Amino acid sequence: MSTQDCIFCKIIKGEIPCAEIYSDDNVLAFLDIGPVNKGHTLIIPKQHYANVFDIPAELAPAIINAQQVVGKAILASTGATGLNIFMNNHSDAGQLVFHAHWHLIPRFGNDGLKHWPQA
Ligand code: C5P
Repeated sequence: MSTQDCIFCKIIKGEIPCAEIYSDDNVLAFLDIGPVNKGHTLIIPKQHYANVFDIPAELAPAIINAQQVVGKAILASTGATGLNIFMNNHSDAGQLVFHAHWHLIPRFGNDGLKHWPQA
């Protein structure tokens, strides 16, 4: 898929709106349009990489930093008492959007979601 057709590249370019909650030179975070729990957020690199295997190692610190900054903000703002951070790589793992992204899913006691990998 070309980056022109990539829905997350369109979000980065501002061609499609999103509920942005964090941005820096390398990374964007926004609320997932189909949240599985209150505060479900995605973190994406601003450059197009299809999955984790394409991401240059130099980008790792920026991604970890965003996970920490955004994760703490989610915990504080939602009152969540736990946070799942994961990504799907390749369609057989459930990847639907082929622009690498991390899911940040706030967890609350008895929220009805299962604990991976029991889902
Ligand atoms: O990991 P996976 O590729 O399955 O997840 C894609 C995610 O992107 C979904 O949770 C979907 O709700 C989200 N999405 C979004 N905004 C879009 C398109 C998809 O938040 N415009």
